Amino acid sequence: MDTVATTLLSQPREVERLVAGQPTSDGAGVRLERVLTQQLQRRLDPFLMLDHFSSDNPEDYVAGFPDHPHRGFETVTYMLRGRIRHRDSAGNEGLVADGGVQWMTAGRGVIHSEMPEQRDGRMAGFQLWLNLPARDKMREPGYLDVQGADVPQFEHDGVTARVIAGESHGVTGAVQRAVTEPLYLDLQLPAGARFEQPLPATHNAFVYVYQGALRFDTGCQVLSGRMAILANTPGSDGVRLQAGDAPTRALLIAGKPLGEPIAQYGPFVMNTEAELVQAVRDFQGGRLA
Ligand code: FE
Repeated sequence: MDTVATTLLSQPREVERLVAGQPTSDGAGVRLERVLTQQLQRRLDPFLMLDHFSSDNPEDYVAGFPDHPHRGFETVTYMLRGRIRHRDSAGNEGLVADGGVQWMTAGRGVIHSEMPEQRDGRMAGFQLWLNLPARDKMREPGYLDVQGADVPQFEHDGVTARVIAGESHGVTGAVQRAVTEPLYLDLQLPAGARFEQPLPATHNAFVYVYQGALRFDTGCQVLSGRMAILANTPGSDGVRLQAGDAPTRALLIAGKPLGEPIAQYGPFVMNTEAELVQAVRDFQGGRLA
């Protein structure tokens, strides 16, 4: 029996497709689930990757991510639990910990390390890669640390939303980007609670459930560890989510597609093969950062 609560939306988006995270290992041997893989970059433009790491076993994370390069995009690390120390070639250093966000703009190039600052206990969080428009790929690198207590958050109909990027229900997030207009929400829903978010139909959007389960109006269930890619149906005006019978946590991520060519070689994401060759040459020649 669903009561009809106040509603912002007249045509909520449907789920186009469910995707399960792929177990993999990266860095010096960090075990993680790759939720947004390279094959989905075009579909989920401007997002290039989403990794979910979650483990109580130090063997899964202590090796960390020693020095490695990036060029052409931004990395957004969101820690749920644990501590990671960042150091980079632009001279930036920071600790991203419980509930905090690190937003690094690689631009023309950084070499950085991302190393756990713990030998035991739980480490859990996400790394999202957000593309830069062609005109910004060779900009100067940038770096922003947002402590957990400083991530804007609000409560609406019992749902707690942390606003990492963009704007939701009148609350402005920690980071804004003019070209891709990213929205990045971490939602905590009590059992049965509902949440609505208006979204332009042209923005690409997905939900990743990492605890509990979500239900869409169509009856589609999204279980923990699954990403739901949301359809860009013309005329649709947002997303409506409802938690199942248990407390549920999920990321809602959306952005305006760049519509530019995507060329990736490992940690470099440019527009053409020639630019990738240049990135590798610059890195090997010590000119990347
Ligand atoms: Fe990195």
